[in-house]
Amino acid sequence: MIDAPFWNKEIETAERSRIEQIQLQRLKQTLAWALKTPFYQKKLTQVGIHSPEDIRSLQDLQRVPYTTKDDLRLSFPKGLMAVEMREVLRIHSSSGTTGIPTVIYFARDDVENWTDLLARSIVGTGATDSDVFQNMMTYGMFTGGLGLHYGAERVGMTVIPIGGGNTKRQIQTMKDFQTTVVHVTPSYLLHIHSKLGEDGIDRKDLALRKAFVGAEPHSENTRRKLEELLQIDAYNSYGLSELNGPGVAFECVCKKDMHVWEDAYIAEVINPDTGEVLKEGETGELVLTNLVRRAMPILRYRTRDLTFLYPQGCDCGRTHRRISRILGRTDDMLIINGVNVFPSQIEERIMKIPEVATNYQIHVDKKGSLDRLTVKVEIYPKLFLGEVAKLEALRHKIVEELRASIVISPLVELHEPGALPVSEGKAKRVVDDRPKD
Ligand code: ADP
Ligand code: ZN
Repeated sequence: MIDAPFWNKEIETAERSRIEQIQLQRLKQTLAWALKTPFYQKKLTQVGIHSPEDIRSLQDLQRVPYTTKDDLRLSFPKGLMAVEMREVLRIHSSSGTTGIPTVIYFARDDVENWTDLLARSIVGTGATDSDVFQNMMTYGMFTGGLGLHYGAERVGMTVIPIGGGNTKRQIQTMKDFQTTVVHVTPSYLLHIHSKLGEDGIDRKDLALRKAFVGAEPHSENTRRKLEELLQIDAYNSYGLSELNGPGVAFECVCKKDMHVWEDAYIAEVINPDTGEVLKEGETGELVLTNLVRRAMPILRYRTRDLTFLYPQGCDCGRTHRRISRILGRTDDMLIINGVNVFPSQIEERIMKIPEVATNYQIHVDKKGSLDRLTVKVEIYPKLFLGEVAKLEALRHKIVEELRASIVISPLVELHEPGALPVSEGKAKRVVDDRPKD
């Protein structure tokens, strides 16, 4: 056991039986709220749930049908609203990575509860009120910006609400205010690293010690790369707007995957094809139920994110179970000439090759009747000054590494840093130019 910091030790280290007692009580409350919405009234009565009392145990949650992103879209704008509009304090929406955005309502107590989860998450990484926090996540309807902003203020950090983009200004600001903690997408932090030194500001001019990285998939190798390049600790932060935003699950000081706040969410992992609930340790789709959101309760939401649940226990002493880093999305799998390939497999491999710099892109198109996969990677500039044969050897090495993981042989292109497009928020790693039929 290590000497870990807590925000709310009693809840964070509660016995399993206590957590489950809280979950059942809050689940009933959530059902009462949900039954006020046209969407759940219909969905729940169809399966014979007419009142919260029809759910007697946590096991009974399995009677509740899943909710999907399409359900949210179809019930736009108010089908899932459980309070009057005058009680809604804030509206957010998802970033729309995979289609039309969905809208989320928060009552005052919902914002309070969410903020509390973020304060807990922040303190769990060892950050304190002495830290200067530069929030590089996009503000606005996207939940990443305001979510962490409120959490950081609650902890008492010095908050710089700079938002996303404008790399030069980000670096200058980090220097001017001696920022110690940033919140950022991993791809953008890699980009920031690649720009250090350009305006005469180097790593040694900065006081950075921690980064909260999230909002997009990234591998353990990417985390290590970030930590080594910037000499910081990077903590994985997971959330989705449908379930409030960031603060669903967060890494603690142990950095061994993310605690799900189980007094605020019920996490299940299911087989995405059959809907069957899986056991701890088995990989599948994460399904989440809100326990403390009154304005828009969501039951058994299919996140499409692939992960597994650890059995209880962590060296920090927290009893809330952890989920693994997101291993992919059920909808981001590429099928290349019949072979299933997850972008995360590609990233995992290339990010551990030392010559590879900080950006890459996956491109798919058709050549004749066949699919063609091209992986474009940026490599460090000095390598371009060397012999052509060495470059060719490197290219070959990357092809071989990838083939070992994804079975097929992709084309690999080497690019100079800065050649591939950069996103200031969520990175767009895959460009699929195959004709849609
Ligand atoms: P959208 O689905 O439109 O991108 P959000 O902005 O709410 O909506 O993004 C939530 C999604 O972002 C998650 O479902 C997940 O796929 C991804 N995500 C968020 N945090 C992480 C993380 N730490 N690791 C991997 N993926 C993440
Ligand atoms: Zn822990």
